[in-house]
Amino acid sequence: MYRAPRGTVDILPAEQAYWTLVHTRAAEVCRLYGYERIDTPVFEDYGLFARTDAKGTDLVEKEMYVFEDRSGQKLTLRAENTAPVCRAYVEHGMFNLPQPVRLYYVGPTFRYERPQAGRYRQHHQFGCEAVGDAAATLDVEGIELALRFLSSLGLQQLSVFLNSIGCRECQPKYVEILRHHYQAVSTRVCDDCRIRMIRNPLRLLDCKEPGCKAIADAAPHTSDYLCTECEAHFGEVQEHLRLLEIPFTLNHKLVRGLDYYTRTVYEIQPQREAGQSAIVGGGRYDGLIEQIGGRPTPAVGFATGLERIILNLKEQGIEAPPVGAPGVYVAHIGDAARRTALSVSKRLRDSHVGVITSTGGKSLKSQLRHANSLGVRYAVILGDNEVQRHEVVLRDMAANVQETLPQGTLLSRLQYG
Ligand SMILES: [Zn+2]
Ligand SMILES: [Zn+2]
Repeated sequence: MYRAPRGTVDILPAEQAYWTLVHTRAAEVCRLYGYERIDTPVFEDYGLFARTDAKGTDLVEKEMYVFEDRSGQKLTLRAENTAPVCRAYVEHGMFNLPQPVRLYYVGPTFRYERPQAGRYRQHHQFGCEAVGDAAATLDVEGIELALRFLSSLGLQQLSVFLNSIGCRECQPKYVEILRHHYQAVSTRVCDDCRIRMIRNPLRLLDCKEPGCKAIADAAPHTSDYLCTECEAHFGEVQEHLRLLEIPFTLNHKLVRGLDYYTRTVYEIQPQREAGQSAIVGGGRYDGLIEQIGGRPTPAVGFATGLERIILNLKEQGIEAPPVGAPGVYVAHIGDAARRTALSVSKRLRDSHVGVITSTGGKSLKSQLRHANSLGVRYAVILGDNEVQRHEVVLRDMAANVQETLPQGTLLSRLQYG
């Protein structure tokens, strides 16, 4: 027996209402802010993700799906969306468009990690990227857009956590100070942190090990070591958030998992009984486009985990509106009626009425039971008598009443009651 690979799920019809809801809201909110949709391939050149600067991150070292195609080209299943969007920006010369270019995406990403609730090896992200402008208003626009998306789904009590991790001028100086802080306590940190001290020191700050947490709490704050420009930028972000009355909490341990972040980093968490966990993560990445071969180009964006958002909707008892099912079931008994059922169904669909046509060969009772289980509002019933008289029986399933009509009036009866 085959099963879906570990860490993947089938999204069955019963789940689709939630997916339709999040996709629709994402598109609606993006339209409000002028973000246009982009779709990139699900696999990319390995080098796009395994850039020199990204070496040492968990993503590159442990979590990517890497394979060679039949020509021997090394490829990677899309591990996140920001690098592919930036690749497309450079490849298609979008720097020639008026800046910033506002883009959004919805689609699957792939990471080899331990599966847990709301976290899968194939998971789906919705995210936005504003490329080509360093203005702090764009950082805030992303936060506002993400919050509007979440609240449009019915999620409430959302917390914004904010930090600035500086630029390529001031961040290395901070990292040295951070290393110094950790050198004094290096015997007390976990094994992972000992590796992080060498390869990726900023990630020391978000270690989840209890012993490491206390050390990170006492660590120097990135925001105390920002250069003048970064400090002014961070100040503006906070000022704009206050202006828009978006509450936020500064969190000096927030650094995000990916290597390319600069300046603003943020997360949004929902109110949750069973432990907090971010459903939106974002920030500025002014160095990434240069890393992948473009000219220096500032950019900012966020990604959301759709599985985790849907999990939160369910936990909060928020239901997705049902996706419109066909309203009519056409039941038939006998050969002549089967033929009439086909043409009646076709005529209804020609007029945009959704129809499920019975496959027949069963008793009327069992066909009506089927109609009931599908939740249709009306059953149209055809037997030899109806065919001979050019009539149909129209049954209101909920009210349990039925009437006989000329076939010619069925459509107007369904459309106008
Ligand atoms: Zn700086
Ligand atoms: Zn640790």
